[in-house]
Amino acid sequence: MAKMLIGGELVDSVSKETYEVRNPASGEVVDRVPKGTAKDVEHAIQAAEAAFKQWSDTTAEDRGRTLMNACELIRQKSAEIAQLLTQEQGKTLFEANLEIHHLLHGLEFYAGLASKVRGAHVPLPQSGAYGMVIRQPIGVCGGIVPWNFPLTLMGTKLGPALAAGNTIIIKPATTTPLATLLCIEQIQKASYGEGKQQKTLAKGAVNVVTGPGSTVGEEMLRNPRIRRIAFTGSTAVGRHVMEVAGREIKRITLELGGSDPMIVMEDANLDMAVKMADIGRYFNCGQMCLGVKRLFLQESIAEKFLGSLADILKKKTVGSGMNKESRMGPIHLDSQRKEIEEQVEDAKSRGARAIIGGERPKGGDLDKGFFYLPTLLTNVPEDSRVSVEETFGPVLPVFTFKTIEEAIEKANKSVYGLGSSIWTRNLLYANKAIDKLEAGNVWVNSLHYGYDELPFGGVKASGVGREHGPEALDYYLEPKGVVIVNA
Ligand code: NAP
Ligand code: MG
Repeated sequence: MAKMLIGGELVDSVSKETYEVRNPASGEVVDRVPKGTAKDVEHAIQAAEAAFKQWSDTTAEDRGRTLMNACELIRQKSAEIAQLLTQEQGKTLFEANLEIHHLLHGLEFYAGLASKVRGAHVPLPQSGAYGMVIRQPIGVCGGIVPWNFPLTLMGTKLGPALAAGNTIIIKPATTTPLATLLCIEQIQKASYGEGKQQKTLAKGAVNVVTGPGSTVGEEMLRNPRIRRIAFTGSTAVGRHVMEVAGREIKRITLELGGSDPMIVMEDANLDMAVKMADIGRYFNCGQMCLGVKRLFLQESIAEKFLGSLADILKKKTVGSGMNKESRMGPIHLDSQRKEIEEQVEDAKSRGARAIIGGERPKGGDLDKGFFYLPTLLTNVPEDSRVSVEETFGPVLPVFTFKTIEEAIEKANKSVYGLGSSIWTRNLLYANKAIDKLEAGNVWVNSLHYGYDELPFGGVKASGVGREHGPEALDYYLEPKGVVIVNA
């Protein structure tokens, strides 16, 4: 049975209760984990507070070295971590390995940045005096993570938190704690320095408390000794996070839902755009925050584009992530599949047509998991659920337009504003989209991909603050203004 990691020890919950983690492709039990409680969060806070004293005093260079070593240790276990991730989440092994690759790339990015944090020297209007801005870690941070990318979305919190000198408590989604635990166990073992000078990461610098959002997550929001919350998940829970954490004036970042538009102009490289529409929508079984969730095609190329995309989707093998031939795994939860089915039914009942998919695949092992076929919807009314809500699964509604202005206006008709893309070789169209699309990110002729180097986050209901890039470090450091007078 898996255990939680608190204060450098693998422990049970004080409640002694456990729950099962099941494979969404088969229903089989993968493992059991402790069902954490508020008391377990309290223990994790004590451990993280104790570790903060040591870790915040560790030199920035040694913090970077520790993170680098953590990556090495994760790398050595990556085959085992990938298997666990596929079994608990459902994604294909190929996707699980890519996720670990992205996790490591992100952690290494912050390992490198740890020693590059800068403050400022500020001339003041008074002679013989100057100001400085120094930047200090906040203290104990909390990271609340969803189930779609359990590892990368843990890393986008843990990496900058540790690099900046904070300590952290991670709460994985109830249904995906296993790969996270194995990863963070490796991070806790990481060390810096050579020979007799070698030191291991302070026990309690990283902690994982497993269990429900309603108890473990809630305590993390509520407890004033967790000074900062980084949350990734749904907009509904994000609102709640803001309210509860707000009462304690916590620093928060919220990475929430999205409904990214992909706009394809007739002059675009269509072969490339078709391939990226496929990956952008159906990778990870469509369970991506960033993802092509509404496809806008210029009328003159719509038929050709959809024909090519449908050809790719027809050949996509749906099946267990553990099978080498599978190109798309199951939806992670039965409830999530039901939600997708209701969204598709709503669109169909208002006149939409599924030119591909629109139903579950049937037969054999496929009946045991939460599978759903890759789906392409045309004639989609603009007020249907797939148009106005986020679709968190392999369903792509398609719309057509005549002019760039019309495309941008339709694209912006969403409460969300996470990613967006424009596909064109015309600089004027590209610039117009960059300027006018209401989104945290715009890609021009590029997959909706969260580069570690660039700030990533949303506007409107898609969130507050940024992860990734040097910008993310700002959310883990408090600036302190200092005045020095020669006396
Ligand atoms: P969710 O239901 O909001 O859950 C996210 C996390 O919050 C889970 O760990 C969950 O724990 C926890 N939680 C639930 N209730 C809580 C509470 N009262 N207090 C504290 N924590 C609580 O989201 P999801 O269904 O797992 O993930 C899908 C959503 O995430 C989609 O909307 C997607 O767009 C969004 N997402 C956004 C980004 C981004 O970067 N913008 C990235 C990925 C996903 P339990 O598992 O125990 O419920
Ligand atoms: Mg949920």
